[in-house]
Formats: sequence, C-alpha cells, structure tokens
Amino acid sequence: MPAFVTRPQQEAIPVLHDVDVIVVGGGPGGVGAAIGAARNGAKTLLIERYGFLGGMATAGHVNPWMPNHHDGKPLDSGVFQDWCKRLEELGGMKLPHRHFCPETAKLAAEQICLEAGVEILYHVSLDRPLMAGDKIDSVLVLGKSGLSAHRAKVFIDTSGDADLAARAGCPFEFGRELDGAAQPMTTNFDMAGVDLKRIPDRKTIQEKYDRAKAEGRIQCPRENVLYFHTVEEDRIHFNTTRVTGHKGTDTLEFSRAEIEGRRQVAQFIKFLREEISGFENARLHSMGAQIGVRETRRVKGRAYLTRKDYERGSKFPDGICRVTYPIDIHNPTGTGTEMVHLPKGTWYEIPYGCLVPQGCENLLVGGRPISVDHAVHSSMRVMPPACTVGQACGTAAAIAAQRGLTPAQVDGCEVKKVMIAQGVNLVDGAEGETAAPFRNDRSAAVLSA
Ligand SMILES: Cc1cc2nc3c(=O)[nH]c(=O)nc-3n(C[C@H](O)[C@H](O)[C@H](O)COP(=O)(O)OP(=O)(O)OC[C@H]3O[C@@H](n4cnc5c(N)ncnc54)[C@H](O)[C@@H]3O)c2cc1C
Repeated sequence: MPAFVTRPQQEAIPVLHDVDVIVVGGGPGGVGAAIGAARNGAKTLLIERYGFLGGMATAGHVNPWMPNHHDGKPLDSGVFQDWCKRLEELGGMKLPHRHFCPETAKLAAEQICLEAGVEILYHVSLDRPLMAGDKIDSVLVLGKSGLSAHRAKVFIDTSGDADLAARAGCPFEFGRELDGAAQPMTTNFDMAGVDLKRIPDRKTIQEKYDRAKAEGRIQCPRENVLYFHTVEEDRIHFNTTRVTGHKGTDTLEFSRAEIEGRRQVAQFIKFLREEISGFENARLHSMGAQIGVRETRRVKGRAYLTRKDYERGSKFPDGICRVTYPIDIHNPTGTGTEMVHLPKGTWYEIPYGCLVPQGCENLLVGGRPISVDHAVHSSMRVMPPACTVGQACGTAAAIAAQRGLTPAQVDGCEVKKVMIAQGVNLVDGAEGETAAPFRNDRSAAVLSA
C-alpha cells in the first residue's frame, strides 16, 4: 500500500466570508478573542469544530474556573467576568469556588458572543490556510457541505493546539524542553447520586486508591484521586484519569487516548461504587465530549516567557494579562504533579509579544499555545487567563484591521490601555519587577488543573 495519496488540485472552493477578523477555535481563548475584536469595531467571524462554544470548559468537561486572584479581586475582569456573570444570571455557577454547569456555559458563551456582534460558524474544522506570501489570505474549513473559504484581514488562532499557526508555517515548540513530552490528557467525568455526607476524608480515599492500584484494580499513573464539588449537591467532578504518551495533535494517538481515558473512567466508577462510602448508589452522570488536552504546541513569538520570569514575577509595560495561578505540571510520563506557587500578593504578566508569532504577518495566537516555556504554559493555560489572553488578541486584531497594520506593528501598550478602558484589571505603565521568593511543592496536588 502506498504511504501517501494526493488530492486533486485546482478545485473551486466557495468564499463564504470576507471580514476583518477570523478567530479559529471557540474555547475560552476564542470567546475572549472574538468578543475583544467585535467590541472594538471589527467585523468578526468565530469558527468552531463543535456545535457549541467553550472548548475545554464544555467539550472537555473541565471544572471549576481556577482561581486567578489578587487581594480577593479577580485579575481576569474582562470578557471572562462577563461570561461568569451571564452564567450566574442563568443559574449555572456556584460561588465561592466558581464551579459551573458546562451546559449553561455553552448558552452563556454563545449569548455574549452574539450580543457583541460576533458571527459564529459551527461544525467546521480548519483544513488549512491559503497563504499569500507571509500572510494568510483565507482559511479553508471542512463542514457538512465540504470545503469552504473564509477571508479576513487578520486571523487569530485559538484552537488550543496552534493548528492554524503550524499550518501557516510558524515555528513552534512542543512539550517540555527535556524530551518534548507534553502534559498528559485526562477524560473528565462526573458521578451523580453521591451521598456527600458519607464520603471519607482524602487520606482514607488515598489509602484505598493506593491499594486498588497495587492490587491491579486500577491502572492509572496519577498519584491521587483528584475531585471537586459541583453546582449540584449530589454530584462530584473527577479530573483524575491520566493518559500519557499520546499527542493531542496526532490523529491516531488522539483517538487511542479517548479509548484509554474511558477505560480508566470505567475502572474508577467500579472502584468508587465498590470501595468508597457514599458512592454505593452513584452513577456516571457525564463525561467530556472529548478527552481533555492540556498541552501540545506552543508558538515561538516576538517575546518568550520562561520559568525565570514566573519566579521573578516579571512585569511588562505591555503586560496584557496578570497571572497568579501556580506552575502546575502533571507529569508527562507518569506519576507526580509539580506545583510551584508564587508568594501571596504577587503575580507575573504576559507581554503582548507572546501573542505575536514569528513567520506569519497577519496572525495572532491566543488561549494556551502562546510563546512561553513548558512551565509558564502550565500556569497561564487555566481558563481565566486563557480568556484574557484571547481578549488581548481580539483587541490587537481590531486595531490592526482598522489601521492596515500587522499585529507586530500594533503597540502592545495601546492594546493594554484599550483593555483597561474596557474593564480589564490591569494598570497602565510598567510596574517594575518583583524579585520575590517562590514556593516549590512537589507533593500531590489537591487544587490542580
Ligand atoms: C483535563 C484538564 C483539566 C483542566 N482543569 C482546569 C480547571 O480545573 N480549571 C481551569 O481553569 N483550567 C483547567 N484546565 C485548563 C483549560 O481548560 C485549558 O487550558 C483552556 O481551556 C485553554 O483554552 P483555549 O481556548 O486555549 O483552548 P481550548 O479550551 O482547547 O479551546 C480550543 C477550541 O478550539 C476548537 N478547535 C480546536 N481545533 C480546531 C480546528 N482545527 N478547527 C476548528 N476548531 C478547533 C476546539 O473545539 C475548542 O472549542 C484543564 C485542562 C485539561 C485538559
């Protein structure tokens, strides 16, 4: 059998849109990007492969919104807070721990996008960009009626995996520096019908889990059972399966990972029902439509943030997002989770240049695959900052489209000023570096993403 086939060239493909900004991927980064662009006057199209928005928050069944606070105030106060507010209005969010209902998150994300004037195109997957030199002319997407083309002045890649950037020829990194291994995937699931009052303490669960693993009833490399309460009284959310050694950007491996994730879910259900009090009558309530992918590509941009920047709490005049969430690395090859916390009251900032990839003139990258190292990625990847980074992309893309600039020509300090004027919790100007000590905690994480 030949290793490759070729497809016919020169097929005529209909052009369905010609807009200012196209955003590829409607997860937290894409929601932030699309609203950021539309609110700043850009005609904006948001392209999403599923029939709903939210990305990992909905399709990946990820919960809760991880904290990203300073002095009790959320640092992500732009589009992300609008999403939360709408979720609360719809009865889909529970404070103080910000657990939310994924179904309501779909409604809320769609409503706020439409209200901002974003056009949404569902059920289309990126095929490839059509390039005009170093610029993207249009993107080809595959939907139910086959291929279609969509043209824009500026594109934003919020696919989580930098699919558009990679196919446009932008350089990128993958996984950790040591061996290229990326953080593991996880099939998240919820159990309903749980008698919360009878659940044992975490130490007892740990002992039972260790025994079940030692005796072969559970095969999962994760070191502990990671679970969270939910918006409902009798439901528990599990973020505890661990699938290592599979790439989220490889067709065959991604598919195999789904099967391995669900194999582990089935073992956990049996274990919980048979060995953990309170779960005797519990049942599987829901799973993600897809396995959760923590890490794949990270583009190489005009700026690059490293673990050292994290440890120093680096600040930048064009810092468009502040992050307090720790370094949170689930071992890419086995057991263990590394958590490194910043000292209370400090944060680091992501400069605008981390969103501007090398190698393509009219592209920005938002959400998790930005230009940072493996360690910083593990911190900024959580949903609140991913959304704010997206909002910065959208703001910059609107400025670029209106003035005929490339994203590299847009002044990141201006992007920051516009975001401040639109309610994002940032401070104009440079705030100087804080050379603060940090806490390294390699023990099993209870609050981990
Ligand atoms: C198992 C797991 C647990 C986590 N736990 C937490 C947690 O508790 N709290 C927290 O805040 N964060 C958590 N995170 C991190 C967080 O969910 C993600 O890092 C975050 O959602 C990234 O946002 P994003 O928009 O960059 O990407 P995504 O959320 O992945 O969104 C990408 C979007 O692009 C779409 N897309 C992808 N490729 C294409 C394509 N080719 N064509 C068209 N559309 C495409 C996808 O369908 C999706 O909607 C967790 C992540 C995982 C995997």
